[in-house]
Amino acid sequence: MKLRWYILSVLAAIFFALPAEAARLLFWDFDRDRNSLSFTTDSSVRPTVRLIANPTRLVIDLPGTGISRSASQRVGGAIASVRVGQPDNRTTRLVVELAPGYFLDPQQVKIAGTPSQWTIQLPSPQRSRPTFEPLLRGVPEWFQITKNGFFIRLRDRDRPEEIKVDRSDNGRQINIELKGARVRSEDSSKTFTVDRYGVEEVRFNQLGNNARITLTLDRNSPRWEVSDSRGGISIVPEQGSEILRDPPSEPSSQASEIVIPVPLPTQPTVPDRTNFPQPNGRALVVLDPGHGGKDPGAIGIGGLRETDVVLPISLEIAQILRDRGINVVMTRSDDRFISLQERAYMANRTRADIFTSIHANAVGGYRPEVNGMETYYYSRGYRLAQIVHQAILETVPIARNRGIKQARFYVLRNTSMPSILVEVGFVTGQIDSRNLANPAYRSQMAQAIALGILRYLQQYP
Ligand SMILES: [Zn+2]
Repeated sequence: MKLRWYILSVLAAIFFALPAEAARLLFWDFDRDRNSLSFTTDSSVRPTVRLIANPTRLVIDLPGTGISRSASQRVGGAIASVRVGQPDNRTTRLVVELAPGYFLDPQQVKIAGTPSQWTIQLPSPQRSRPTFEPLLRGVPEWFQITKNGFFIRLRDRDRPEEIKVDRSDNGRQINIELKGARVRSEDSSKTFTVDRYGVEEVRFNQLGNNARITLTLDRNSPRWEVSDSRGGISIVPEQGSEILRDPPSEPSSQASEIVIPVPLPTQPTVPDRTNFPQPNGRALVVLDPGHGGKDPGAIGIGGLRETDVVLPISLEIAQILRDRGINVVMTRSDDRFISLQERAYMANRTRADIFTSIHANAVGGYRPEVNGMETYYYSRGYRLAQIVHQAILETVPIARNRGIKQARFYVLRNTSMPSILVEVGFVTGQIDSRNLANPAYRSQMAQAIALGILRYLQQYP
């Protein structure tokens, strides 16, 4: 008895020591093509989002959330990287860092989510307009210090025909040669003290038809990249090179942090079937659960088979549609093999109004981080794909929206009515496989697809 109490009190102590970390971050993903960051936690979380300057980065804090490990992903282009870590043991932090010289319009950052699944959609990062600091004493005003490095202001007619950059062998000098540009005579052959960002001095020379700018660097200087940009030439740290900042002289007047409001999460709702649309007329829908019989389709985590995922979903869609007076023909309603030719032939022969194929996805290798659903069409199915996809987004807490895509799948190319193929998720995905193995989730997916089909039939009777 005593021992049992002891165990209980130890458990209680552990339990009460942990409530600061009630949720765990299960999954995150930065979609480079869409510029969007999405993440999933195992219970509800309310993120806070800030845009912070120097370097420009979006910081998303998940209070009361833990992670299994820190990670980072190099992105490339305007977004340098995405990192995940824990600034303290109660908070998980995601940081989307922009490449030097880029900024984000905080007004255009769109945040939406359900209590445990959030997506942060970023606008395309813009090249920063350099914000000029007060001029350095004595240095010509056309050589300016920016928040990201240096900027040489040129009038359009002074633009060089070519920019050549040379580095001295010891790396302590950079010569920037501007072909066809002129140095003002009063600045020529003069050296000015800079003492910023690891640049000690700048010197201007006129060499025949070319202007030469020489930067003398100290040991802490980053590696510089020189490029032609709007209104002049920008000198910014090379990708991956950190600018050295001297905090005391950093201008403090500008807001260095902007809080971006996070809307309330929307609750994914199980659609109320009694409110499903009731299309007029007697449409015929051919439903096509992929694979079957000797072909189980993709095999995923825990041996989850595609055929076992898509059949129950398809059967439930059929039931919902039939309840609404829709004629449904299924290419298979049990675990049997049907060729692709037979499937397309069935849709064409019965003169179906629409054809919907249900599949689950897989990726090769061990990549549990790949999750999400997508809807395919080939030609006439685009509107149907849009409406069904939208119905899924509204009602199912999917791990990731992989979008509506065009593809030359056999059953889409060889059917003569609007036809789509829904990939409901990845049987190989960590989150999707768990969802797809869950009958309640499959039922939600079935209801969403049925809702989409009914909406379509109502709009396009
Ligand atoms: Zn398949």
